[in-house]
Amino acid sequence: MTPGTRTFVSGGNTLIGRALIDLLLEEGRAELFGVGRDEPDVTDSRATEKFFEYARPQVVFHCAGLSGGIGLNRAKPVELMRDNLLGTLSVLGAAKTFGARKLVYLASSCAYPKLAAQPMRVEALGTGAMEPTSEAYSTAKFAGWKLCAAYRREFGTNFVTAFPANGFGPHDDFTADGGHVIPALMRRAHDAKERGDAELVVWGTGAPRREFVYARDLARACAFVAEHYDGDAPINLGGGTDLSIADVAREVASVVGFRGRLRFDATKPDGAPLKALDSLPLLELGWQPSYGFRAALEETYAWFLRANAARAVETGRELATR
Ligand code: GDP
Repeated sequence: MTPGTRTFVSGGNTLIGRALIDLLLEEGRAELFGVGRDEPDVTDSRATEKFFEYARPQVVFHCAGLSGGIGLNRAKPVELMRDNLLGTLSVLGAAKTFGARKLVYLASSCAYPKLAAQPMRVEALGTGAMEPTSEAYSTAKFAGWKLCAAYRREFGTNFVTAFPANGFGPHDDFTADGGHVIPALMRRAHDAKERGDAELVVWGTGAPRREFVYARDLARACAFVAEHYDGDAPINLGGGTDLSIADVAREVASVVGFRGRLRFDATKPDGAPLKALDSLPLLELGWQPSYGFRAALEETYAWFLRANAARAVETGRELATR
């Protein structure tokens, strides 16, 4: 990609989409179209076609799609599935019609079988049942991968599917109860520090392990895939830090400056004991994360403080890509 590469990132309001736009703008690696208010409603195929007809993006990153935590998945499976299916149908269709030379589709690691061997290899996709609570959303993400594959087969288009690991960073959902573990703990540790609380409650036993990748590193990985990976097989975007929730909580408390004690509330569910992606194919291509976990948390907290001062955090991102 060069400063003149006509590029469209759908889903500028998602964690990865937003980080990708920031990265490409800062590094001057693309001529971006459809940013902010100019982004078309990609669930509207006519609006998407009109946009593509004018912008003619050469490179497309399809990050758009409603997503959320377990609460949203339980309450709104139809909306989640429709939004993701419609957006993917229209973006892939327009990318084909208007001759994009590369499309990177961001799927989700929850499309993996619930009981896949860890760390999860792309060969495991489709070999078992998905987690039932997010099945509607995950099925739409899985269908997006299969649609990319079908376009490749029928039309020879260079559409590549990427499965990102759990991301965190600026513009995440920092609500105390709604967000995923890092932004939720950051919010509660910050509030606990402000109130001078003696303890911070962490859900579950603290034993589960998760792989975390900074959103900016995920954005770098997306750009890397656009430039260096053209394979038929989907590719995992991970290679981040695999940590126990107890370690995560200690690091978050330390970055925030909360000096009280941590209390693990084992009445709250732990979820899966381990979730991580096998990202060897990406690492073998020469990509590496550039942020250590601590530095990424520090940057995220600095953003949180600025946004919090501007009262933007609670209203921030409604939609999160996982
Ligand atoms: P998951 O990977 O789908 O389980 O996503 P989460 O980020 O919601 O949870 C990851 C782990 O962090 C689980 O074991 C949770 O029990 C644990 N956890 C600890 N404190 C929190 C919290 O405040 N919010 C969330 N969401 N999870 C927490």
